[in-house]
Amino acid sequence: MNINGTTQKIGIIGWPVGHSFSPCLHNAAFDALGLNYVYVPLPVEKTQLADAVKGLLALGFAGANVTVPHKVAIMEYLDEVDPVAEKIGAVNTLVVRQKRVIGYNTDALGFMAALHRHGFSANAQRVMLLGAGGAARAIAAGVSREQVKSFTIAARRLEQAQNLAATLPDFTFTSVGWPSNDFSLALSQADIIIHSTPIGMFPHSAEQPSVDIADLKASALVCDLIYNPVKTRLLQIAAAAGHPVLGGMSMLIEQAAAAFELWTGENAPRSVMEQAVQRLLDQA
Ligand code: NAP
Repeated sequence: MNINGTTQKIGIIGWPVGHSFSPCLHNAAFDALGLNYVYVPLPVEKTQLADAVKGLLALGFAGANVTVPHKVAIMEYLDEVDPVAEKIGAVNTLVVRQKRVIGYNTDALGFMAALHRHGFSANAQRVMLLGAGGAARAIAAGVSREQVKSFTIAARRLEQAQNLAATLPDFTFTSVGWPSNDFSLALSQADIIIHSTPIGMFPHSAEQPSVDIADLKASALVCDLIYNPVKTRLLQIAAAAGHPVLGGMSMLIEQAAAAFELWTGENAPRSVMEQAVQRLLDQA
């Protein structure tokens, strides 16, 4: 990396941000394409969020990622929010264009791109989403663009699943409590199961969500949004039972690639990004 007076600056706004893979992933991608960009961590406390957005403009940043806990709160300080991000109700990418800060959400696109790149589609499928938090909102927005046969959202707090369903009024969801009889029935009929809770995430890698793999259709695809570990316990058990599986790494790379392409206008080098993340995981 050769930083000089014309280097374009991208940051990641969050609190904390020290654990983020994004600086390593994006700097590797900029280097690989010989782009004069640098990606830096920007730890910002809640009370400083408005100033941080003004600071991006004042300091001539080209863009940023936004991560926990600011993905929703930052929206009110932006000049414009892309309709997809508006629908999801959260922003994970900022682009500075003509002195205006514009918010996007690349998580929905990232998940759908990951699904398609691995040869799957939600069209004509019964889809079941486990969990109804921030990532689930993006997944629901992405999946709702396809012609699914049915879409069930399961959450331990039924009202959270119902609230998520209410954010997409043009789309028909079924909300179920997890666990419940309705949950078990929907699970046994699902073609695609998408796990979007943190259960099984490092360092709790031995844990798994309460899903009995034996209850699934033999052909059901099991997805987990967690990327650390690359293959969660849920996915290990599902794969051992013969199910196709899709881990969160692919979504991580695709959402990052979509942000990279918004900032630079260049095709993101996905394999370089994945190798950079894998190196970090290997070091952990
Ligand atoms: P979040 O907003 O905190 O939502 C977590 C969801 O999981 C909530 O519905 C929560 O319910 C539920 N949950 C938590 N613990 C549970 C438990 N023991 N039993 C049942 N439900 C439980 O988190 P998020 O941002 O959606 O992230 C969820 C996961 O997705 C994380 O592992 C994150 O790393 C991953 N993710 C991956 C990517 C990627 O690019 N691959 C992108 C985004 C997120 P309550 O509200 O009741 O606690």
